[in-house]
Amino acid sequence: MQVINPVTGEVVRTVAETSAEETDEAVARAEAASASWRAVAPGDRARLLRAFADLVDARLEELARLEVLNAGHPIGQARWEAGNLRDVLLYYSAAPERLTGLQIPVPGGVDVTFKEPLGTVAVIVPWNFPMPIMGWGMAPALAAGNTVLVKPAEWTPLTALRVAELALEAGLPEGVLQVLPGRGPVTGRRLADHPGVRKIVFTGSTRVGRELMAACAPGIKRLTLELGGKSANIVFADADLERAAATAPYAVFENAGQDCCARSRILVQASAYDRFMELLEPAVKGVAVGDPAAEETEVGPLISAEHRAKVASYVPDGAPVAFRGTAPDGPGFWYPPTVLAAPDHHGLPAWHEEVFGPVALVVPFTDEADAVRIANDTAYGLSGSIWTRDLGRALRTARAVEAGNLSVNSHSSVRYWTPFGGYKQSGLGRELGPDALDAFTETKNVFLATEP
Ligand code: NAD
Repeated sequence: MQVINPVTGEVVRTVAETSAEETDEAVARAEAASASWRAVAPGDRARLLRAFADLVDARLEELARLEVLNAGHPIGQARWEAGNLRDVLLYYSAAPERLTGLQIPVPGGVDVTFKEPLGTVAVIVPWNFPMPIMGWGMAPALAAGNTVLVKPAEWTPLTALRVAELALEAGLPEGVLQVLPGRGPVTGRRLADHPGVRKIVFTGSTRVGRELMAACAPGIKRLTLELGGKSANIVFADADLERAAATAPYAVFENAGQDCCARSRILVQASAYDRFMELLEPAVKGVAVGDPAAEETEVGPLISAEHRAKVASYVPDGAPVAFRGTAPDGPGFWYPPTVLAAPDHHGLPAWHEEVFGPVALVVPFTDEADAVRIANDTAYGLSGSIWTRDLGRALRTARAVEAGNLSVNSHSSVRYWTPFGGYKQSGLGRELGPDALDAFTETKNVFLATEP
């Protein structure tokens, strides 16, 4: 597979594809390593994960630069991504000694529960945040005593391959973590079909998520899905409009809009609409789009020429463009931050579908009930923001919006120590936080009779 630098369009490396047969061999290695990995003393497993995190930290700049080259992410953001991988490894390195069961009172004996690893787990990763999303599946899975196979996206295998080397260097035994670059329908699908893989953690499009759910059905394979989004940023008239408008561009254009949590539908209370648009325009035009290796860059290119063509198709001639930011000319897959003002939004594909690019729609609403109705007018339910100074309304609205991750007077969605995941067609199950460990363990109940 050719790995292409999205800034230049040039091939930077060629990576071997893992065939279906090689995938089977990797599963066999992972299964063979399972028994000894689950038998590693909890404190030793914790130490290995900490050593792994320390090596990611020591190589943070190298990993970040590799992501700049491979995914075109701005260097500051790429450092955050490598740091997130380190932090999620450290967070779950505290888990092995704390994965305790219960002792439940029962008559006639003793009842205890055990948290047991599933066995071999496959983590299928998209191209938009390669290092964090690899970590969110891999770290709790390893901590709980599973062996892990990671299938990075076709476009972005480089950091995952480097991270696998660091795992070996840190002392993780052979076969405990393997990275299998390859095509989704070949390597990814084989992992889903293979009876030796006990769980699939998939982050990617809703279309492929649906296919994988069907592929997992025959074997009742465990499955976590993190899928698409079409999140709302709801701005009430009583909000701090300056802050809401200054931050709204980053809530949708960060990572060039290639973010499942992108707040791509900006809903503004009608009485504040004109003022908000006045404030939003300079904020959008001020987004620094350009060379991702430059420290001041905020937004880089899109991942590929095909993806740019798809994004552009959401803004056809005659689309209600309110204003746009800038983007460099020349080679590379650039697209300017674009705001559509669409009171009559229902016919627009960009309203219903995930663009996964720097395109936002602004839509007015009348009152709280109208805002909730419009926000929930989507098949997705991943995240969202609510801007208001009325905290009662903030909480009411947050409870009424059907989405897994909401923030009030903020646009942040992801903290590795709090749960993350989607309602409706945005996913199944939750990652991150303490509960993610349940997704990588089976609970076994044992009753021991003490009466003859
Ligand atoms: P994608 O679904 O095309 O691919 C994701 C991964 O699945 C890749 O590794 C790909 O090779 C693999 N794959 C593709 N077809 C497969 C198949 N038939 N069987 C098994 N594996 C297969 O998605 P993408 O374009 O890489 O990523 C963008 C999507 O990911 C967007 O929809 C975005 O919203 C979503 N996403 C969601 C989250 C979240 O946490 N909810 C986070 C990031 C991205």
